[in-house]
Amino acid sequence: RPTVIIVVGMAGSGKTTFLTRLHREISSGIICRSDDGKVGKGYYINLDPACTAMPYPPQIDIRDTVDYKNVMSEYNLGPNGAIVTSLNLFATKFDVVMGILEKRVEEERDIDYVIVDTPGQIESFTWSASGQIVTESLASSFPTILSFVVDTPRCVNPSTFMSNMLYSCSMMYRSRLPMVVAFNKTDVVSSDTVESWMSDYDKFQEAMDAQESSGGSYYDSLNRSMALTLDEFYSTLNRCGVSAATGDGVDEFLALCEKARAEYFEEYWKDLNDRR
Ligand code: GDP
Ligand code: MG
Repeated sequence: RPTVIIVVGMAGSGKTTFLTRLHREISSGIICRSDDGKVGKGYYINLDPACTAMPYPPQIDIRDTVDYKNVMSEYNLGPNGAIVTSLNLFATKFDVVMGILEKRVEEERDIDYVIVDTPGQIESFTWSASGQIVTESLASSFPTILSFVVDTPRCVNPSTFMSNMLYSCSMMYRSRLPMVVAFNKTDVVSSDTVESWMSDYDKFQEAMDAQESSGGSYYDSLNRSMALTLDEFYSTLNRCGVSAATGDGVDEFLALCEKARAEYFEEYWKDLNDRR
């Protein structure tokens, strides 16, 4: 069965650009998973109702089902409320999507990846009932992993870095799904610095020392002690640098997805069957 990759991350981190890149590399055969050189296929789902430009062609698109602008005027909502409401409306029909997906996977046996794009504003997916419904539906039928996309240039600020890590950590523990963190935009800033903060606690403290206090001393000491707490999370976290713009690191990313897929079967799938 194909691996489902749910792509999440803060607004502007590059989720849609990264999907476009994955689409390009997978469909052009640059990436092939099987040893016999057979090129696998990707299947794409867009869950961002408010997206305007869609450089890759998704097979399933929330915008075909719900009209975000209509939702906004009909329910008298602002942009964020309309995204959440659109997702809710879509989630009520997600069994239909699962049906389509099952059928496609059955018919086209060479689909290797089902890749899911999520709304720009991360909370609307990760902290909503509909996001949970979508994630759990996918994860109960397919090996499913989360890919957390990080805006690396913004993470040179250690506090921003810490916010991103706390977010990914809480998402991973909440969903119990394996995760691959993709430090994106390495064409602008290498991910070496932030990755060194994860492997060496002192390096992060040095970066904290060097930065001008951004949110006062309380915030600083919170970030410092958080770094200690996250140490264990870091030790097992799958991570790599990528550039959605140039394609750098995509093969390493997909190799980590394979590893995360194995983790899914070792943990999530086992738990699921124990409960069934
Ligand atoms: P999303 O909100 O997470 O879907 O982010 P988008 O994919 O819309 O990207 C946000 C901005 O980041 C856009 O201006 C992209 O061109 C830019 N961007 C995305 N990935 C990269 C990258 O790898 N390198 C650079 N330099 N810019 C990127
Ligand atoms: Mg997007």
